[in-house]
Amino acid sequence: MEAKEENPKFVGFPFKPYSIQIDFMNALYQSLNQGGVSMLESPTGTGKTMSVICSALQWVLDRRLHQEDACANGNVGSVGSDDEPDWIRDFVVNKNPEPKERKKKTENKKEKLLSLLGKPYNNNNKNSRESCKDKTAERGCESLQKRIDVVDSDNKEFLLEEYESEDEKVLGTSVLSKRKTIKTDFSSSSEDEGDDEEEEEEEEKKFKVYFCSRTHSQLSQFIKELRKTVFANEMSVVSLGSRKNLCINEEVQRLGNSTRINERCLELQKKKKKEAIKVKNLKVGAGACRTKASSGCPMLSKHRAQQEFKNEVSEQGPLDIEDLANLGRTMGTCPYYGSRSMVRRADLVVLPYQSLFSKSSREALGLTLKSNIIIIDEAHNLADSLICMYDSKITLLQLETVHHHVERYFVRFRNLLGPANRRYIQTLMVLTRAFLQVLLNEKDGNLIDSCNDIDQASEESRASDFTMAMNDFLFEQNIDNINLVKLLKYIKESNIMHKVSSYGEKLATLEKISTVDNIREHGEEGSCLSAFQALADILLSLTNNDDVGRIIISRSKSTSLKKQSGYIKYVMLSGERIFSKIVDEAHAVVLVGGTLQPIEETRERLFPWLPPNQLHFFSCGHIVPPDSIMPIAVTRGPTGRSFDFSFSSRSSPDMMRELGLLLCNLVTVVPEGIVVFFPSFDYESKVYQNWESSGILERITKRKRVFREPRNNMDVESVLKEYKDTIYTLSGLNSEVNQASHGGAILLAVVGAKISEGINLSDGMGRCIVMVGLPYASPSDIELLERIKHIEGLRNSKLPENPSFSANYDLYSGSVQGGFDILRSCSHRGKEYYENLCMKAVNQSIGRAIRHINDYAAILLVDTRYASDSSKRSFAHPITKLPQWIRDRLVSSSINYGEVHRLLHQFFKLKKTGCH
Ligand code: SF4
Repeated sequence: MEAKEENPKFVGFPFKPYSIQIDFMNALYQSLNQGGVSMLESPTGTGKTMSVICSALQWVLDRRLHQEDACANGNVGSVGSDDEPDWIRDFVVNKNPEPKERKKKTENKKEKLLSLLGKPYNNNNKNSRESCKDKTAERGCESLQKRIDVVDSDNKEFLLEEYESEDEKVLGTSVLSKRKTIKTDFSSSSEDEGDDEEEEEEEEKKFKVYFCSRTHSQLSQFIKELRKTVFANEMSVVSLGSRKNLCINEEVQRLGNSTRINERCLELQKKKKKEAIKVKNLKVGAGACRTKASSGCPMLSKHRAQQEFKNEVSEQGPLDIEDLANLGRTMGTCPYYGSRSMVRRADLVVLPYQSLFSKSSREALGLTLKSNIIIIDEAHNLADSLICMYDSKITLLQLETVHHHVERYFVRFRNLLGPANRRYIQTLMVLTRAFLQVLLNEKDGNLIDSCNDIDQASEESRASDFTMAMNDFLFEQNIDNINLVKLLKYIKESNIMHKVSSYGEKLATLEKISTVDNIREHGEEGSCLSAFQALADILLSLTNNDDVGRIIISRSKSTSLKKQSGYIKYVMLSGERIFSKIVDEAHAVVLVGGTLQPIEETRERLFPWLPPNQLHFFSCGHIVPPDSIMPIAVTRGPTGRSFDFSFSSRSSPDMMRELGLLLCNLVTVVPEGIVVFFPSFDYESKVYQNWESSGILERITKRKRVFREPRNNMDVESVLKEYKDTIYTLSGLNSEVNQASHGGAILLAVVGAKISEGINLSDGMGRCIVMVGLPYASPSDIELLERIKHIEGLRNSKLPENPSFSANYDLYSGSVQGGFDILRSCSHRGKEYYENLCMKAVNQSIGRAIRHINDYAAILLVDTRYASDSSKRSFAHPITKLPQWIRDRLVSSSINYGEVHRLLHQFFKLKKTGCH
């Protein structure tokens, strides 16, 4: 029987909740009862995070209580009854593992214990097989040793151990028998190492909640809110982060880049294991005693310190990534592995998207989704965020690096390698050569030349980007007969990446070529290990189904600004299968966001198999009163010129000047901070230069200081701090004189950049948000066009103007016009997706303001396209995609600027009097 919670009480809510918060909590609670997929929408600033915490965790506590009652009342026998929801059946079944499973567990434990005592585990069946293997292994070792002996002692460490896959039954080594247990799934994230063989398995908590969001700062915010509730003491919580965020080994951290940090950490773990095996052998063979303190990472050498770390985390309550890193530093033990080992017994796991959505990361972290709850925050762009995680790319420089190093390695060691190693290395060389040929234009030159002829109209240099279906790509390069799954297994199990890279580094040192200089010159591309990882990533992508992704080939080109290296990129186009695996396992998946519209698009792209009536959707209004918001569609500037920021008109000096004049007027009526969102950095620069030369900037700065969003994310914080300080000092909130002259500041920001995506512009920081035009993505973006075509179902269609090209290629001129042609050829879904993308960006940006119940702001949507006669509004009109609470108040008929000014003046006057 489905649990009915007609009026669940949310006693954990630390304040008196508003009615919309109660509605939201009830909706989430009911969604968890029902299971499946839900989408819950609540505008930013409505206490959404707190509502999520108090409803979801209350549900978990209630369910556990319910289970305990059921067990105490002896209702266990009724398990399996058709009336019970899945989660009840799963729970009770799991409580009583099958005898076989129990036996296996006991055997494993016994085996571990005996091996710790140095005694053999007497399992007869297994023994006979193992002893057989051992003999083969011994023979394999002997032959390996003979070959190693002929290598000079300096190069021994680079020689690959003998390799045997399922097909290579020639030789066997003791290492091989161990290798057989390695998962066949290849991890591109380098996350799948077995570091926890010594960990005693802890009982997995039932009804675990996984809360995931896009950024670490959003997760920190979640932890802060959680700490305000009673659940902070009642639930066991763990935050998961990447090594880049949690590594405290300074030498490793100094590497700076995520891939290198991951690789180095794994290398250290491998060294530790090898050293441990050596020590064990020494002990058995000669009774010698040796310390292993020099091996592995020193931050992970003491088991007791890890245990104490876990105890301390449990003691201190919910900690965010920064807290965990600090605690690890204080205690001198690794917080990355410390937090990972707490997952099993956690009630709530707080983690970034990447850790949850990537299958290999889930496996490495030991995340079990079965019958658990997944809450995905900031889900407004989930389909695109999800597929981007599965993209992979290798540059020309990286290909050259791998090819060069593999070739040199092969030349040096070919006579010492076994047949399997030789064969796989040769295959790798064939592959890298084929990829290089594509980028160096050694094949199909005619095809590209013909493209160049046509592309006379292209803005910059020559057209050289084209896309292909995955199978076509493999076929064209004559590599369709290579078994990539086996090759990936070989790369993973043989350790070839490290052997080749370290041999390459050694040669470079001998030749006095510093790899550090190489990395400095070319960034991460200069590292052989990173290049090899990029190759493995793209090979992994090529094992996907043909219909879910596309290959983009971009050849080197010179533009007026820079020389761009060529690359091969795999872009994932469909997240449906990735998401279905998650939905199939979990009890409930809840998508939460400030605005999740359009629901239908998300459903079609992520869970099309789900009938619309089985998708639970809830949306609530804003907590701010309607008179705290003043949204206006501004169609004309102060001189009466109509605002048109479409691609063809926005760069006209008149349009930029009119926008400047609008700002000159706004600074006289809007108090404190104004944030102006531009569609791109390039356009913002153009406008700024225009205002600078025309004297408009000077007029604006007489009233408000002007700040600009920096392109580099690292610099955003300092600019924001100065912007905020300026508002609160120049506006002089306590000074009547300054209030009269308004003061304050203007921040010129960019849609899609850091400020628009996650910065809180509450109160004086954002009294007025100005959205300049409709920020459509550039139609020259080749990846975007591929997504549009996929959504539209145009995957194999050709550009209308290029009918003569090879059946397997889609060529792109890189011109905006070509993109528009594709958009024009879309009938509905592709176009709709393109428009939705734009309006989601608008909603994200304007949602930065009005962050709490007493906040207020004006929102100006500057473009004629925002205004329309409400009776004539079609489904696709931009206004229909605004959040309901803004749409309801929008002044959208064409009014002149005088009217806009009057409305603003009235709005801020009322708010000012209301505040005093
Ligand atoms: S074990 Fe921890 S501290 Fe050591 S290198 Fe790895 S992540 Fe860094």
